[in-house]
Amino acid sequence: MMQKRKILIANWKTYIQSFSEIDIKIGEIKQNLDFYNIDLVLCPSFIYIQRIISKLESQHIFVGSQNFSSSETNTNTGEILAAMLADLGCKYSILGHSEIRERYAESSDTVAIKSNIALKHNVTPIICVGEALETRTKSDYIKFLIDQTIESLPHFSDIEKNNIIIAYEPIWSIGTGKIPSPNQIEEVLSALKSIPGLKFAKFVYGGSVNEQNISEICEVKSLDGVLVGGASTDITKLNLISKALSNFT
Ligand code: PEP
Repeated sequence: MMQKRKILIANWKTYIQSFSEIDIKIGEIKQNLDFYNIDLVLCPSFIYIQRIISKLESQHIFVGSQNFSSSETNTNTGEILAAMLADLGCKYSILGHSEIRERYAESSDTVAIKSNIALKHNVTPIICVGEALETRTKSDYIKFLIDQTIESLPHFSDIEKNNIIIAYEPIWSIGTGKIPSPNQIEEVLSALKSIPGLKFAKFVYGGSVNEQNISEICEVKSLDGVLVGGASTDITKLNLISKALSNFT
């Protein structure tokens, strides 16, 4: 089967809090463009999206958002719509991140609505799923993850024809330094790959990925890339992660 191009998604969360810092990061990335023999998706806070798009032109570097509104009407005070992001040139959006699922009690149904809206605007949804530690230790976590993924998918009959990324992000791994073994990641990814409609989707792993554990994570056969939080804000680390991912392509 044809290899899918590897993808490195950088979730900058709210780590970067000023335009001057954003400009420094863009400068550092520009000096190392050769490293990016993969698709790099930078996901900053909303207000920095336009700055990055205007300063960082490259065929394989894209900008994504970390969320958007589940509504498309004109009366969403304080919200940002997918249409606005698409208008800026934003090509991806992280959806259903566990920090948002938890904080706003966001259900998988809402994630599915957002995934629909994303595709309507040609924004690739990066749908995050992941189990809490309690689910992993006390119940059928594979069933939980399959159900959560199916419930979060867009309601399209021809789902296979769309670009979709599934990010497996175990909650117990995010920001903790703990990562599942390559076998444990493979077990989950191959289960999710069997969901109807996801034949052409990309599957990435996220949770405490860094420049030291990336080679081990790259051993996972079903892996199309990684979603990196904390370590991705350090461009030296981002470059090393990118290099490891390219070697494994
Ligand atoms: C994340 O929050 O999506 C994430 C992967 O974070 P970290 O890499 O910091 O664990």
